[in-house]
Amino acid sequence: MGNELSRIPKVDKLLAWPQVAAFLVKHPRPLVLQAIRNTLDRLRQESVNGVLREKIGEDGLIALVSVELDRLSSSSLRTVINGSGVVIHTNLGRSLLARSACEQIATVAGHYSNLEIDLTTGERGERYSHLEGLLCELTGAEAAIVVNNNAAAVLLALSGMAAGREVVVSRGELVEIGGAFRIPDVMRQSGCLLREVGATNRTHLKDYRSAMTAETGLLLKVHTSNYAVVGFTAEVSIEELVALGSEQGIPVMADIGSGLLLDLSLYGISGEPTINEYVRSGADIITCSGDKMLGGPQAGIILGKRSIIDKLRRHPLLRAIRIDKLTLAGLEATLRLYRDERQAVAEIPTLRMLTLQPADLMKKGQSWLRRLRGKIPVSVTLALQEGSSQVGGGALPLLDLPTVLIAVTAEGLSAQAIDQALRSGRVPVLGRIYRDRYLLDLRTLQENDLPPLAEALQLLVTPPPS
Ligand SMILES: *Cc1c(COP(=O)(O)O)cnc(C)c1O
Repeated sequence: MGNELSRIPKVDKLLAWPQVAAFLVKHPRPLVLQAIRNTLDRLRQESVNGVLREKIGEDGLIALVSVELDRLSSSSLRTVINGSGVVIHTNLGRSLLARSACEQIATVAGHYSNLEIDLTTGERGERYSHLEGLLCELTGAEAAIVVNNNAAAVLLALSGMAAGREVVVSRGELVEIGGAFRIPDVMRQSGCLLREVGATNRTHLKDYRSAMTAETGLLLKVHTSNYAVVGFTAEVSIEELVALGSEQGIPVMADIGSGLLLDLSLYGISGEPTINEYVRSGADIITCSGDKMLGGPQAGIILGKRSIIDKLRRHPLLRAIRIDKLTLAGLEATLRLYRDERQAVAEIPTLRMLTLQPADLMKKGQSWLRRLRGKIPVSVTLALQEGSSQVGGGALPLLDLPTVLIAVTAEGLSAQAIDQALRSGRVPVLGRIYRDRYLLDLRTLQENDLPPLAEALQLLVTPPPS
């Protein structure tokens, strides 16, 4: 083993090789040095750990350095192929933006803009003004403001409306959204006192009523986005809460989570509240996400009464959670598509994927198989099978959307080995394994994923240099 270790050359020696000189033409010297060090360290480590590796000559070593150099010089944030079937996949970046939104972001990114200037008067304007009119037009709300994300929207609204006072919430609605965001914690951070009412499965109007005191500052309803309470249950509707609030002179806020702007029940997707029905209920403040079922960029949308929105606009916290201009550009372009419902479903990728029907998916599957045939190794077999996909993003957790899957099998490889190989390609592919089968869900595969997918499937016979 010691022998093997001593055969690994020193960094200085490698630097004198002509192939390394070629790397130095294309890459900065510190990066080349780093790639050499990382490669040699790994070889030493492997030799210490007794990993068997065929003797690598000069060419083999240079190839390893080259792969490491590619890794170091490419971005850490890369595009991937989502074959998971989870449309709003938080770990894969939630919603893909419509083409018009991508173009508008690129345009605004490369130009100065009227972000905070009123072009008619030449005086200072507000970034929030660019979205308010459109949001009010689409939802019927009186006023609107947009911040960094929905967690920030909830924090701002609670802090602005009820800091130092009690906020009444049902025990069935003390939601946790992915680890860090928990309603009771956000409540504390915003300086409010949580007043839980009811039981986990049942809360009645009288529970809210009897919890109300001179200290009550707000009634809060939280949409239980990512779970469902089923069986012997009762919850108080937003309309009933609004009636109680106005009777007692206490404002009512609703955090509806996903922010659906269209009724999708026509497409078999129901159970998720629409923004408009909450606005119609008369709730004083409504908050939702921009990048869940709305299909826009990461943002938190706050809609409601003019007097309250104006107060939030002057809140010191706003500056810390303000929306940036690229998000603003992307969100405005996305919202504009909602002026025509058919256009929204056709052009907003999240809506398009969610509304794909099994017959569309079967056709898509047949077309993909036809086009992949001849581009993949003979030892790899692709077949279509039925299954189900998920909305994701913590929305409609009980809903299974019927879908069509590509089952990938490869001679001599387990489903785990296929998963590993496809994940390590130039464009990583993320599928899922079900009953020892590797599956790719056609619902979330994009048209331009086909060439890199074909390339990745090649890896199933020629493993990348490790
Ligand atoms: C998703 C969600 C949030 C958090 O929204 P982000 O935009 O991810 O910050 C808050 N409340 C509810 C009910 C949600 O579903």
